[in-house]
Amino acid sequence: MTENTGEPMDRSATGTSSGAVWLKGALLDIASVVRPDRGPTVVREWSDSVRLLDPEPVGFRSLFLIGMSWDGRPALSKFGATLTAFTEAGWDVHPDATDQDGESWATARHEQFEVRVYEGSGTGLVTLTGWTPVVYPELRLGQPPFTRSTAGGVLCYDCHGWGVCLTCEGRPYERRDQRCWCIANNAGPGKCVECAGRGLRSPATVPWWRPQHPLHGADMDCAAPEAGHATALSALSDVAQRACVCGEFRCSWRNVLEEEGGRLLARFVGACQGCDVRRTHTFTLARS
Ligand SMILES: [Zn+2]
Ligand SMILES: [Zn+2]
Ligand SMILES: [Zn+2]
Repeated sequence: MTENTGEPMDRSATGTSSGAVWLKGALLDIASVVRPDRGPTVVREWSDSVRLLDPEPVGFRSLFLIGMSWDGRPALSKFGATLTAFTEAGWDVHPDATDQDGESWATARHEQFEVRVYEGSGTGLVTLTGWTPVVYPELRLGQPPFTRSTAGGVLCYDCHGWGVCLTCEGRPYERRDQRCWCIANNAGPGKCVECAGRGLRSPATVPWWRPQHPLHGADMDCAAPEAGHATALSALSDVAQRACVCGEFRCSWRNVLEEEGGRLLARFVGACQGCDVRRTHTFTLARS
């Protein structure tokens, strides 16, 4: 299913697989418009599970990371062309930020599908991170504010990103014997006390588009650059398979392509979405 004209979600089906299939096809179509001569790469596909009080998941969403790169050489920005391709395919596009170092972020939405569009500094790489709505096989629940991959930080351990007390699910009590013994409900219904209703663990967590860690500078090099990749996209495909020391692989990678001492370096920086630790990888790209 690779046509943009179809119904995004087959509502007669359970939704999950048809929505995920539609999204992946739509993203690959859009990326192929931007990068017609050499197709885009599906860097990684995965899912986020959603839970309530029970550790057993009650629902999940599918996510895709699609990458486009231009032979690892500095080139003109493809960010505007990417946003145009989304608009022409019927998506609502909102540019979020452009950094003076050359990074750019935007959000594209189509019904309940959302895509984070990102271009790294040095225009070596454009990435599309797309996700479906959360699908619940059995329950009828609303959409959580965040799942692990879409949070601009680490999900609150207490409410798992919902932002409300999970015992009462944030509902007010009508009779005294219905009262939840959480602080939130004693003080009135609603918010998770641990995260003040934000769904994120740290109140200091900034929105995802605001760079949390510098891409440049002396602070960058923790290890010697690795070799073995010809393009920034190939290096990203490698990085996306690696896990943090905490075991989590989810990470909103930002990147810069830069010359240094006659070498072409692709740097990747991100905050782990499991433990918030800063992760970095640097690669020397092979010159042709
Ligand atoms: Zn919370
Ligand atoms: Zn409660
Ligand atoms: Zn981690």
